[in-house]
Amino acid sequence: MGKLIIVTAPSGAGKTTLVRHLLGTYNKLAFSVSATTRPKRETEMEGKDYYFIQVEKFKSLIAEDAFLEWEEVYENQFYGTLKSEAERLWSEGKHVIFDIDVKGALNLKMVHPDRTLTIFVKPPTPESLANRLRDRKSESEESLRKRIEKANYELSFEKKFDIVLVNDDLETALSEAEWIMEKYVFEETGKNLHLKSNIL
Ligand code: 5GP
Repeated sequence: MGKLIIVTAPSGAGKTTLVRHLLGTYNKLAFSVSATTRPKRETEMEGKDYYFIQVEKFKSLIAEDAFLEWEEVYENQFYGTLKSEAERLWSEGKHVIFDIDVKGALNLKMVHPDRTLTIFVKPPTPESLANRLRDRKSESEESLRKRIEKANYELSFEKKFDIVLVNDDLETALSEAEWIMEKYVFEETGKNLHLKSNIL
């Protein structure tokens, strides 16, 4: 059975780079593309980064019970993991990586506790996070403020995750992430996960 690797981080902690690195390193891993109602950023591609859909469509998918989990992450901006997406990837024999928020991560872990590894990527300091977000320049002042506020809230949940990965030096964080994959995803395929010990 394919595993679930959930990577969660406050916006700006460097999670995307990490996830891309893992996907590029191991072909047994695949990314679960979420559905969202937020506007597409210039650098993003439909069907690769997200399925960009209208709020009405999102609500009808909720009614059809099409999501493994979903959240209104920001006001009127919905994000959700489609059952069909994860099932398709598992049927291809892949372990699936999810990039979802704190609440979504903890909810999804409850759905498949014995197959799920939750990783919380943490910036070295709260200031470094605000700086990274500003450098990204993809957000308006209002959106930036909301993201910093949410990031500070999310930092209080780290203890609920199986693993906390501090992204201070990127190279170190990438090799730690590889070590985690090898130890918990590839080596222990037959064993139950359930863990909640901060091993790093
Ligand atoms: P962004 O707008 O920066 O792409 O994502 C904002 C937040 O939504 C991030 O914390 C991201 O992990 C989260 N997110 C993305 N997809 C999903 C999803 O399917 N479910 C949940 N709960 N959160 C998601």
